[in-house]
Amino acid sequence: MSLVLSLALILFLLALYLFWQARRQRRAAGLPGGRIIYIDTHAQGVRPEKPLIDPRLGLVGKPDYLIEQNGIIIPVEIKTGRTPSESPYDSHIYQLAAYCLLVERVYGRRPPYGILFYLSRSYAIDYTPALESALLDLLADMRRDDVRTDVPCSHNEPARCLKCGFRSICDQKLA
Ligand code: SF4
Repeated sequence: MSLVLSLALILFLLALYLFWQARRQRRAAGLPGGRIIYIDTHAQGVRPEKPLIDPRLGLVGKPDYLIEQNGIIIPVEIKTGRTPSESPYDSHIYQLAAYCLLVERVYGRRPPYGILFYLSRSYAIDYTPALESALLDLLADMRRDDVRTDVPCSHNEPARCLKCGFRSICDQKLA
């Protein structure tokens, strides 16, 4: 076999190996198939992505991944904390919905769903008109509460209160 043919064979095998490795890593990360078009990584030396912005709503966000699959764009958010036992936390669902909304505003394509990836399992969350409308209501509430001084804490997640950075000055903190 000539040297050129041997080199071509080695390069071909190397390309196959890299392709297989990339697929394996993607599967291990729980990412759906498709082209990764956006990665918000904190890895050193990697240029950070620009945030997605909707100036009209004053909404800014950086999803962990955007995957393009057959013309649709799917936001993927990785959560490293405890995996919820039954369904994802509302706060995570709204965060993902906000990314879906931003993708539609920035790329002009509405994601049919997004993915919340926890350590033990992942959830596909449909981006329905009902979820979008609940998100817009929540954003309106947040804007309203932003200028109020008497907002009661929900205390739905007591563990958060125990670790909150405002405990030293908050008169609603849990004991
Ligand atoms: S310390 Fe106060 S602000 Fe923080 S979570 Fe608890 S109640 Fe809310």
